[in-house]
Amino acid sequence: MISEARLRAVVLAVSSTIVEHAEELTALDAAIGDGDHGVNMRRGAAAVVAELEAIVAKPLPEALKTIGTRLVMTVGGASGPLYGTLCLALGKQLSGTPDDFAGALRRAVDAVAARGKSRYGQKTLLDVLYPIVDAVEARRTLPETVAVAHAAAAETRDRKALRGRASFLGDRSIGHVDPGARSSALIVEAIAGALL
Ligand code: ADP
Ligand code: MG
Repeated sequence: MISEARLRAVVLAVSSTIVEHAEELTALDAAIGDGDHGVNMRRGAAAVVAELEAIVAKPLPEALKTIGTRLVMTVGGASGPLYGTLCLALGKQLSGTPDDFAGALRRAVDAVAARGKSRYGQKTLLDVLYPIVDAVEARRTLPETVAVAHAAAAETRDRKALRGRASFLGDRSIGHVDPGARSSALIVEAIAGALL
């Protein structure tokens, strides 16, 4: 499905982008949340990289389940359980339907929505994850999918937050990009860069 070397490159690329953008993510979260998104994500990235060799030695579904468990345990906040669920659910889906990546991804994102009691359009990471699912289903190229992700993250700026801490701000959440949407777009860009 994916070689050990590629999986290692993907995990390292995601981790690097999180470390490089931690301050930006934290600043976005300081504007409409509690200012810890970058710190949370960086902690998760470090926990995954600490187990890198054990993770990449596994088949992809098992590797994803291990990553998901680490994220749930270490990231904290709202985003830890949500990104953790994404990896756990994708790992589970890929064990069952390994030849249907797009379907597996959609069901995994649906699991995130169920976990967050949220849906597309509420100014969360789902506002990026669903457009990515659509792009994958439509067999868009990796660069196109990255462009979709960044555009979708930028669109959250004009939305009012309806879930998570940012929703406490009501209309004052409008005018700021959602931190989770931004981290999702950065992660997609890193994965695509490592796979190209
Ligand atoms: P916390 O909000 O607990 O401090 P983080 O700052 O790490 O956690 O993550 C905030 C991000 O989590 C938000 O920008 C948003 O994208 C996402 N988020 C928060 N609540 C939900 C939810 N119910 N459903 C989907 N995403 C959510
Ligand atoms: Mg926060």
